[in-house]
Amino acid sequence: MTAVGSDERAGLPAPLLEHWDWQAAAACRGMDCDAFFHPPKERARGRRRRVAAARAICQGCPVARACLAHALQAPEPYGIWGGLSEEERAERLDRRSLRYPARRSAP
Ligand code: SF4
Repeated sequence: MTAVGSDERAGLPAPLLEHWDWQAAAACRGMDCDAFFHPPKERARGRRRRVAAARAICQGCPVARACLAHALQAPEPYGIWGGLSEEERAERLDRRSLRYPARRSAP
């Protein structure tokens, strides 16, 4: 994916159609987002099932690379994006948590 303009404060691309049009081809477009974002008080078994279901959708998604690139750039703190969980994206960004960005991985 090519670099996109961004709002440096939020890490988000500028609100231009060309930065977001990949979403029109998303395999998850129009789906209930429950598979991609955890509900309150989710338990481990339910989480494993939900994440597996979301990954299965992402595996066949034609815009998975753009989706993941966006999620890493933003960085999106919640949900499955481009087939990766919050924890997997945090690892790629060398962070302990995306929810608490000041926390870095231990050296
Ligand atoms: S990669 Fe997954 S979350 Fe991203 S747009 Fe495709 S289906 Fe949706």
